[in-house]
Amino acid sequence: MVKNTEKASQIMAQVESEVDSNKEQIAKSFIHYLYNSLGREIDSKAHYLEHALVYTIRDRLMINWKKTEQRYAIKNLRKGYYLSMEFLIGRSLTNSLINLGLKDITLAALYDLGLNFEEIEEAEHDAGLGNGGLGRLAACFMDSCATLALPVMGYGLRYEYGMFRQHIKNGYQVEEPDQWLRHGYYPWGLMRREYTRVVKFGGRTVKSVHPDTGRLMVKWEDTCPVLAVPFDVPVPGFSNNVVNTLRLWSAAAVEAFNLNAFNAGSYASSVAEKNNAESITMVLYPNDASENGKELRLKQQYFLVSASLQDIVVQWAEKNNNDFTQFAENNTFQLNDTHPSLAIAELMRLLMDEYELEWQDAWEITSKTMAYTNHTLLPEALEKWHVSLFERLLPRLLEVIYEINKRFLNVIEQKWSDDISKQRELSIIDEDNMVRMAHLAIVGSYSVNGVAELHSQLLKESLFKTFYDLWPQKFNNKTNGVTQRRWLAVCNPELKQLLEDKIGGDWIVNLDELKKIEAFAEESAFCERWEKVRLANKKRLANYIKKETGVEFDPSALFDVQVKRIHEYKRQLLNILHVIHLYNRIKRGQTQHWTNRCVIIGGKAAPGYYMAKLIIKLINNVADRINHDLEVGDKLKVVFLPNYSVSAMEVICAGTDLSEQISTAGKEASGTGNMKFMMNGAITIGTLDGANVEILEEVGNENFFLFGLKTAEVSALRKHYNPEHFIQNNNDLKQVMDRLESGFFNEEEPNIFDSIIGSLKSPYDPWMTLADFADYLQAQQRAANTFQNKAGWIKMSIINCARSGRFSSDRTIRQYNDEIWKLSPVGIDKT
Ligand SMILES: *Cc1c(COP(=O)(O)O)cnc(C)c1O
Repeated sequence: MVKNTEKASQIMAQVESEVDSNKEQIAKSFIHYLYNSLGREIDSKAHYLEHALVYTIRDRLMINWKKTEQRYAIKNLRKGYYLSMEFLIGRSLTNSLINLGLKDITLAALYDLGLNFEEIEEAEHDAGLGNGGLGRLAACFMDSCATLALPVMGYGLRYEYGMFRQHIKNGYQVEEPDQWLRHGYYPWGLMRREYTRVVKFGGRTVKSVHPDTGRLMVKWEDTCPVLAVPFDVPVPGFSNNVVNTLRLWSAAAVEAFNLNAFNAGSYASSVAEKNNAESITMVLYPNDASENGKELRLKQQYFLVSASLQDIVVQWAEKNNNDFTQFAENNTFQLNDTHPSLAIAELMRLLMDEYELEWQDAWEITSKTMAYTNHTLLPEALEKWHVSLFERLLPRLLEVIYEINKRFLNVIEQKWSDDISKQRELSIIDEDNMVRMAHLAIVGSYSVNGVAELHSQLLKESLFKTFYDLWPQKFNNKTNGVTQRRWLAVCNPELKQLLEDKIGGDWIVNLDELKKIEAFAEESAFCERWEKVRLANKKRLANYIKKETGVEFDPSALFDVQVKRIHEYKRQLLNILHVIHLYNRIKRGQTQHWTNRCVIIGGKAAPGYYMAKLIIKLINNVADRINHDLEVGDKLKVVFLPNYSVSAMEVICAGTDLSEQISTAGKEASGTGNMKFMMNGAITIGTLDGANVEILEEVGNENFFLFGLKTAEVSALRKHYNPEHFIQNNNDLKQVMDRLESGFFNEEEPNIFDSIIGSLKSPYDPWMTLADFADYLQAQQRAANTFQNKAGWIKMSIINCARSGRFSSDRTIRQYNDEIWKLSPVGIDKT
């Protein structure tokens, strides 16, 4: 039989006309999926309504998705690939509706059915395939690439269990697995078995000489192969018909049953083997900004890199008759931190072992296609793997890395022939036989970027100084950004409406347009509406907090928020010391000109990070004591908000007055939470760290509560840091420490906070919390005083939002493209 493509196309055209986006058709599709596909009815659980709605919306991007894919398949179209171990996507429904321009009509269709969109929206489970900032950045970048119509594909892993759910029990964090695929599937993800790849582990290498050419041939044999099955997630651009792809790999056993073992009667062990393969993508490692020295983590990294590169290289080879001369002109890879930096060795392996390129040619291609983004200066986050682990797991990759290093060390020797210490310093393999992944990434990349001006400067001056001396042209900065589609349009519909009424809707693709609202910062009608919107958002946040914690917040109080991963360098401790100080003032009766304040702290601690978990316990104990003290009343409320996530942040950032960005200067690479808050009209209290520096540049001192030591001052003070000196010279601090040490917050739990007290008082405290206490208090007092002047605060809020244009990830991606990727935007016509 010959397949009747023509007839199929005719019918498809008909079907397509029915996938129209008018209200009746949307309702029809929705009912079709709910009743026919899911076998449910209109009064079934919100979860089923949500699935039916996702299918309805997915239909409406399927044709453009296919079109975009076909457009990208055209020969000689230069494409970019974003390789990341994490994509912290969150929910996708409202975002897709807004990008496709279908939100109003869909709400109307549901309304006619007597359905409440918000309940359906709430039923969507977050895709929490990331830890924090790094993973959320990847998700914002995907949105911006699609909106800028750039041919960029994301590659990641489809973890069976994403970021854990956080509960609080007796003040302590309890982790619960995130069963986001509980119902077996994720309705946005499309399984594409036809693109399954095989990833090899273990085994040994076998060398031979080609009988004709005399070329050294290497084979990687006796391996344990694992299947990589892709699930594609659509990424629609804003109103431009582009639908890019995020391809997430899932691990599967090569054969469900090992027949030999099965026949030998070892049914159990043959099934166990299957589990072993599938364990690779079982769980996301829940560590943020700290190293993960586990074997399974290295397996995950190689699995991502090998599956993704094969995907690209095999398709290239098929299309170009194994000719790779144009490969570097047509492909570029962005490595999100060192996690996927094995891509450098893997591309070398594929080109040499599978397609018989010579080393020089393969290296020429590899080092012209790879670009590396550094995300941290913290030494504990710099990845290293022992050579012996490579020998066992990835023997061929280790050989390639040795050869890369050998040739690299030759370059160093030529450049600094009289200085052997340079070789020792820069070598990819260190003296303890550890493979330094950052060194591999720098050596193999044509671009190395930091994620904020200050961070990129510090990379050049300290961590990678000698590399910078060697290759200054590789180093550049790309200050992070966040997408205003999610972090304004989706999460703050009231503000979106106000902005549209006042300056139109162009800001959604050109955030600099927000500058136009500054002209109205003194107009009383506009300011009144601004305040009303803010109050509505604060009420929404207060309701959320009530629901999650039982604590009631008065929306007229100052909402003071610090949400981010719990880490000592982010200094949640500094925040809680200030809270204790406020409590002391109330107890002393020093409440003249008081500003009522609600303090919200939220974030997950890595399960193995003892101090971070203890900080959560301290916050909860302090909150408990304060919230139950009748003398405090509305003056001060404190909560630890459990299970911080993308969907939580959508509610939080819209309802925040004061954004806490208080890391020790020089430690936060960029931060992106700071940008989300600013975009929604919160005012920052912060140190000169990461992108705070650039936020301050935009808004000026009068619209920012700046405090704290600068990076250079931190380094200078470190040599003779004496916390006792700060305690003795500041009565407020002394009383705070006395209160903490008295056991007031742990009466029934003696000594549990000793290690926190010890770290604060240690001359070796790397975060030097007490050194910034006095200045922080003053900045907090300025914030409290400023808040009393409603009109003044509103004006600052408007200015912060108005000047947030620089922090759109559209700006970031434009810079990646102009300066690193050099891709041409692609036009996709409307269907
Ligand atoms: C934005 C975001 C982060 C990053 O926050 P920082 O304050 O920059 O550390 C982490 N987690 C979630 C869920 C986010 O939305």
